[in-house]
Amino acid sequence: MADPVTPEPPTPEPLTFADVDDAASTLAGVAHRTPVLTSTAIDDAAGAHLFCKCENLQRMGAFKFRGAYTAVARLDPQVRRRGVVTYSSGNHAQALSLAARLHGIDATIVMPHDAPASKVAATQGYGGTIVRYDRYTEDRTAIATEIAERTGATVIPPYDHPDVIAGQGTAALELLTDVPDLDVLLVPLGGGGLLSGSLLAAGGLAPDTRVYGVEPAAGDDGLRSLRSGSIVTIDPPRTIADGAQTTHLGDHTFRVIAERVTDILTVEDSELITAMQFVATRAKVVIEPTAALGVAAALDARHGFSGLRIGVILSGGNVDLARLAAPTP
Ligand SMILES: *Cc1c(COP(=O)(O)O)cnc(C)c1O
Repeated sequence: MADPVTPEPPTPEPLTFADVDDAASTLAGVAHRTPVLTSTAIDDAAGAHLFCKCENLQRMGAFKFRGAYTAVARLDPQVRRRGVVTYSSGNHAQALSLAARLHGIDATIVMPHDAPASKVAATQGYGGTIVRYDRYTEDRTAIATEIAERTGATVIPPYDHPDVIAGQGTAALELLTDVPDLDVLLVPLGGGGLLSGSLLAAGGLAPDTRVYGVEPAAGDDGLRSLRSGSIVTIDPPRTIADGAQTTHLGDHTFRVIAERVTDILTVEDSELITAMQFVATRAKVVIEPTAALGVAAALDARHGFSGLRIGVILSGGNVDLARLAAPTP
């Protein structure tokens, strides 16, 4: 009997707007079409017009459901049956657990010991199996790969995956459809799945909109990568923006970002706390620190956004309430 032929993986085509549009079809009726929030109080503070895409109201509380569900839905059914595995600081863990549950399969999540308690509990609540690791000494990718090899599960990474990127882009696709004439779009930046997907969406729908990634100042690897023209890896950054505690962009995300992004801005943790508390008290909307990156950048007069129409992705709302109320660390 002839050996089964393992086909060469096809060379990945560059991602395009059509990939985001396809993901929108996959997600129709499954993901929430989240509302766009406007607030006179926020506009007055920013001296600009803000249109906030409320992904804190997405299923499991963050945009990450979009990418995770898209990636699981596109697996071959025979492969999908064996389950999925990932490593994540939290929201992708919840997203993949929920996406797996909706497909009737298992999800194993490699998660740091210091992940917020609310995210650990929520991941378990969605049925994910958690394996803990130390983010300062252990390699989460290696742990996930070992589990995948042992169980036959597929690794679904949090950002560097074409289907994840396409899925994440559907949030900006909806925002740019609902508010067509934005001057600027501000996108929180960790590993770059949300930013690269947003860039693809804007490329198709709003090519004149300036799209910025916004990352924590302590983890400015995205900015440094953009400036140097290749992916820069940093030590795990210490920032309250736990959704952006990534150490490097991915190959897929960097390719899209380097080609299309207007620029990358950085925000201090103290500005994130101010922005989070401002959004909570004035707009009555609870967002997590990472989701405040775009608002904080809009509030920073140095960027010259005054008078402009600014889209902001409020990327998630999964915050420990004790942490939200706490003073600056
Ligand atoms: C993951 C995450 C981000 C960053 O997304 P990337 O695709 O890694 O750049 C931003 N905000 C929240 C709430 C997140 O969970």
